[in-house]
Amino acid sequence: MENTHSIMDIFGTNVFNDKAMRQYLPKSIYYELRKTIEGRKDLDPAIADVVAAAIKKWAIEKGATHYTHWFQPLTGFTAEKHDAFITSPKEDGSVLMEFSGKDLIKGEPDASSFPSGGLRATFEARGYTTWDCTSPAFIREDAAGAILCIPTAFCSFTGEALDQKTPLLRSMEAVQEQSLRLLRLFGNTTSQKVVPSIGAEQEYFLIDRNKYLQRKDLIYTGRTLFGAMPPKGQELDDHYFGTLRQRVGGYMRQVNEELWKMGVPAKTQHNEVAPAQHELAPIYAEANVAADHNQIMMQTLKRVASQQGLVCLLHEKPFAGVNGSGKHNNWSLTTDDGINLLDPGKRPHENKQFLLILACLLKAVDIHADLLRESAANVGNDHRLGAHEAPPAIISVFLGEQLDDVLDQLLSTGNATHSLRGHKLHTGVKTLPDFTKDATDRNRTSPFAFTNNKFEFRMVGSRDSIAHSTVVINTIAAEAFADACDILEKADDFETALHDLTIQYISEHRKIIFGGNGYSEEWVEEAARRGLPNLRSMVDAIPALTTEKSIRMFERFHVFNEAELHSRAEIKYETYNKAINIEALTMIDMTVKQILPAVINYTGTLSNIVQSLNAVGVSPSVQSDLLRDITSLLNEANAAVRVLRKMSTEASGIEDNKDRAHFYHDHVMPAMEDLRAPIDKLEMLVDKEVWPMPSYGDLIFEV
Ligand code: ADP
Ligand code: MG
Repeated sequence: MENTHSIMDIFGTNVFNDKAMRQYLPKSIYYELRKTIEGRKDLDPAIADVVAAAIKKWAIEKGATHYTHWFQPLTGFTAEKHDAFITSPKEDGSVLMEFSGKDLIKGEPDASSFPSGGLRATFEARGYTTWDCTSPAFIREDAAGAILCIPTAFCSFTGEALDQKTPLLRSMEAVQEQSLRLLRLFGNTTSQKVVPSIGAEQEYFLIDRNKYLQRKDLIYTGRTLFGAMPPKGQELDDHYFGTLRQRVGGYMRQVNEELWKMGVPAKTQHNEVAPAQHELAPIYAEANVAADHNQIMMQTLKRVASQQGLVCLLHEKPFAGVNGSGKHNNWSLTTDDGINLLDPGKRPHENKQFLLILACLLKAVDIHADLLRESAANVGNDHRLGAHEAPPAIISVFLGEQLDDVLDQLLSTGNATHSLRGHKLHTGVKTLPDFTKDATDRNRTSPFAFTNNKFEFRMVGSRDSIAHSTVVINTIAAEAFADACDILEKADDFETALHDLTIQYISEHRKIIFGGNGYSEEWVEEAARRGLPNLRSMVDAIPALTTEKSIRMFERFHVFNEAELHSRAEIKYETYNKAINIEALTMIDMTVKQILPAVINYTGTLSNIVQSLNAVGVSPSVQSDLLRDITSLLNEANAAVRVLRKMSTEASGIEDNKDRAHFYHDHVMPAMEDLRAPIDKLEMLVDKEVWPMPSYGDLIFEV
């Protein structure tokens, strides 16, 4: 990292991108492959050997020794198995480098070790990874050397999706088809493709590795299960956008350089609200490429941290009482000739196509609010959603003053005649330039906010793949577009039908629009009056996957079949159960083996002092008060740990995953809180030197 490289020199150097393809592939093969990448032609297996040979040559020149099918099973992580390029040694003992078309196209990991939610019995172990040529292969350099990573989809023997990528690709096709139908209605005959674009803003915490290693909760669960608040939290907001500390700056620099090499256009970085919290956002890309980029980003954030004596925490709520981390999923639809379907233009009131699309999306979000909420449900996010600093668990849409006004005009008079304009921003200082403001202010509390020319879904958990929420947004949009097209394509008078349908959708679904403070208690009550769902926890949200309405929609657009949806729900319950079980056991372990012994020792010291003071006739009132308080909390903690142990044993005995998940949520989680409370109080009373692990203050203020 001694020299600073020009971004232009390093960007994409480790990606088998279009430039590399042109350079390494024969012209005719290049054009064939491009057709497949652009979705105009199925992959011709005959060209696979040539493409594989070209990728191999390129990768080996870059120093790659291994290749891997890189895929995203439903574990929440990416998976890979490395194969060296070598063949079996020849008679003279030397080896050749081998990588065939078959190696490129197909892999066969033992699928029985990945979650399938009952889709496959374990004796039917076959699962296949298949090359996704729409997301470019890349080389990752790490301690294992340089590895050629081939993005792949992962399916069962019978073709059911076992991963994040397969449904994402299916949903992209669905929304493309329906968007094109809609564009044709408006006379567009030129656009051939419509792709959802995604920009994923990633939040994370960065802490010191040595301190991390002293906390079993962080090691086993990714979050702190105990920890009293330090005297200073985030109340001053002095971290937000603050100057980067040197150590963090050096970290970000290496992260950026590695990402750029792998073609991830990391763009914006800043400190976040909580101490030790940061954010990194790339420039948006096609949805499946963006989903891969986000996975690469998360891996890189973690890897570089460990190289620099740091740890990157991607958990949604690593520290109670300070902000959690999320991921903003910025979504828009763009045609191959550069039209953004979500761009209202300068005069939104006249943009009938945009208004129909907007009306469709309002309908989609309103009808499928439960599914959207579910798409952001994960174990960690339960600590975030609904808490005061994060999007509430209620889905609503923020449109902003300008569009609110256009919709009001439409509903009140049947016609929108004007759009509010941004005014000049006057600072009152001559030397500062005046400029035109945006027509609309922001709303940071809205979970689904319109921001200029895209929607920003802000509920997604920081660790989660953006694939699932994107699948949901793509598919609900496809459904709304399809329903509208079904009506409008048959209309005798298109203009009138369009006008009426737009107004109908807006008036039927305006209850989903909310521009106020989404974190307030009043909103929770108002939303209940409006009949909007408020699914407060993951276990409450999971059933949204398998409602009749959900199954009907996903089957209609061939994104998921019913069995796949049930399997995903099953996997989610299973994941929930495992995660809470690990948390409960970790709490018990830390309490019994670390915290109670340390505090008991400390009470020993205190009582010795009390005795010696008594012996010399001094009344040790401070010391004995402290001893009494500590002892009473010790008793409380000891009782609570017994309850927790009993509850988690009971939970493990419950056969059905869903029932067990509810038990964890209703009984184990509260028992965990009951144990945490006295222990956090003890931390405040006991000598810091005695406490067996770094405090919140040590972790988040001293990076
Ligand atoms: P904001 O200020 O609204 O948060 P930014 O310009 O900071 O917007 O962008 C946030 C993220 O949204 C970035 O990853 C950016 O690339 C992405 N983004 C910008 N425009 C679009 C778009 N049209 N479609 C999808 N993502 C977009
Ligand atoms: Mg944003």
